[in-house]
Amino acid sequence: MRVVHSALSEFLTNRVPKHSLSIVVILILKSGATDAQIDHVIARVESLGMRAHLSRGTYRTIIGIIGDENIIREEPFCAIEGVSEVVPVLPPYKLASLEAHPEPSIIDVSGIKIGGGFLGMIAGPCSVEDEPRMHRIAAAVRAAGANIFRGGAYKPRTSPYAFQGLGEDGLKLLRDVGDLHGMPVVTEVTDVRCVETVAKYADMIQVGARNMQNFVLLTEIGMTSRPVLLKRGMSATITDLLMSAEYILSQGNPNVVLCERGIKSFDPATRNLFDVAAVPLAHTLTHLPIIVDPSHATGRPDLIPACALAGIAAGADGVHIEVHDQPEVAKSDGPQALLPEQYRELAEKMRCMAEMLGKTISTIPKVYA
Ligand code: PEP
Ligand code: MN
Repeated sequence: MRVVHSALSEFLTNRVPKHSLSIVVILILKSGATDAQIDHVIARVESLGMRAHLSRGTYRTIIGIIGDENIIREEPFCAIEGVSEVVPVLPPYKLASLEAHPEPSIIDVSGIKIGGGFLGMIAGPCSVEDEPRMHRIAAAVRAAGANIFRGGAYKPRTSPYAFQGLGEDGLKLLRDVGDLHGMPVVTEVTDVRCVETVAKYADMIQVGARNMQNFVLLTEIGMTSRPVLLKRGMSATITDLLMSAEYILSQGNPNVVLCERGIKSFDPATRNLFDVAAVPLAHTLTHLPIIVDPSHATGRPDLIPACALAGIAAGADGVHIEVHDQPEVAKSDGPQALLPEQYRELAEKMRCMAEMLGKTISTIPKVYA
C-alpha cells in the first residue's frame, strides 16, 4: 500500500498541470494489468466525456479521472477488468464538506445560535405530556439555563402498543409552552405526511435515529427552511450521517445540526455506546455543527453528566438532555431522565466548561422575553 501511496502522491503533485481541472477519482490498476486492459479503461473514461491521466509506476499503474464527479461516482469502474481500486479524491457529501465551506456554520434557531462557538442547550421531556407538567419542566430547564425546549409529539416506539405521542395536540401544547416560557422548541417528525404540520409549530425539526436514512423524509424536510436536528442512526457511520445531511442540504435547506446520540454496541451495560470521538471527527469533515445527546447515548442518569461534559470538552456545539420531574410516571424514556435539580447542577458545570473553552451560550432572544 505504501508503494501505491507514494506513486499516488507523486502522480498528484507532479503529473497534473496546476491549471488543469482537478482529478476527482483515481483508479489504481491491478499489478500486471495488461496494455489492452489499460487502453480499455482509458477508452471507457473518454467515452463518458472525461479525461484520463495515465501514470505507469514501477509496481502499479494509476489513472486519474478529470470530469464531473457526480457522473464519475455513478460509474462502476471497479467492474472493469484490470481495475483494483477506485479512490475518490473528494468526499461524497459535497455540500456538507469542509472543502465546500471551510468556516463552521452557525445555525440560528429562532435567535438561538448553534455552532461556530455557540452552544445549544436543548432540554425537556422525551414526550410531550400533560400541560401542567410541561409548564413545570419548561420553567425549570429555562431557569437552569436551557435555551431550546424539547418534547416529542410523534414518538417512534419499538412497540406498536407503547405510547405513540399526542400528535398535533402535542405540537400545539409544545408551541404554547415554548412561547410562554420564552424558548424555541424542537420536536421530532416521524412521517413525511406530517412535515408541514411539524414545521408550522416547531422552531426546529428533529429527525430521529430511526429515521436518519428515511431519504424521502429527509428530502421533504430539505424543502422547508426550518432548522433540522439530524440524529445519528444507531448503526450509521459518520459518512452515512453526512450523506443524510447532504439530502437536506441538496434540497436547499442549509440549516442542519448533527447529533451524536450513541451507537449500538455489544455491551448492554449502557443503552448505546457514546461515540465522543465522533464530535472532533465531524469537525474535521464538515462545517455543520454537531451536538451530543448523552441521555440516549447512555440511558443512565448517573452517567449523563460526565458524558455531557466530555462532549463539550470534545468540541460539541451543544448538549441535548431529557428532563422529567417525575421519571417514574414518564410516558417514555423515564429511566434516563434527569430530574430538574440534576439538570440545574449539570447546566452550571456545562456553563463553566463552556466559559473555559471560550464558548458562548446564546441567551433567549428578545422576541420571546
Ligand atoms: C428522542 O429524542 O426522544 C429520540 C427518540 O431520540 P433518538 O432518535 O436519538 O432515539
Ligand atoms: Mn427519548
